[in-house]
Amino acid sequence: MSFLTPPHKALVWVDISKCKACDICVSLCPSGALAMVQNVNSTQGKTIEVIAQDSCIGCRDCELHCPDFAIFVTERSSEVKFAKLTEESKARALAIKNNKFNKVGA
Ligand code: SF4
Ligand code: SF4
Repeated sequence: MSFLTPPHKALVWVDISKCKACDICVSLCPSGALAMVQNVNSTQGKTIEVIAQDSCIGCRDCELHCPDFAIFVTERSSEVKFAKLTEESKARALAIKNNKFNKVGA
């Protein structure tokens, strides 16, 4: 499967096999769409997860800054609708950052 083809019409998706759990994408995401979650099967003990797909605003900051080319954002088109940045999504992003980039409540 090509990771340049969005799985299940996802707006943002990750190739977990390439992710080194560096937190960079989570630290940059303005909408709280991404967070680290515990994963005992990962070398780092955690992996990235897209936790709020519907909040992604399509800014591509995650994709452009990932050192391992592990995260992808779909292309804008007439069929693709990204969210607007809301107070709720900004608050979730701040809560995740204050929780050392981990999913809040996990
Ligand atoms: S920036 Fe890339 S390598 Fe780092 S946590 Fe995000 S997806 Fe994984
Ligand atoms: S494209 Fe922007 S809003 Fe969407 S997950 Fe990446 S950093 Fe977050």
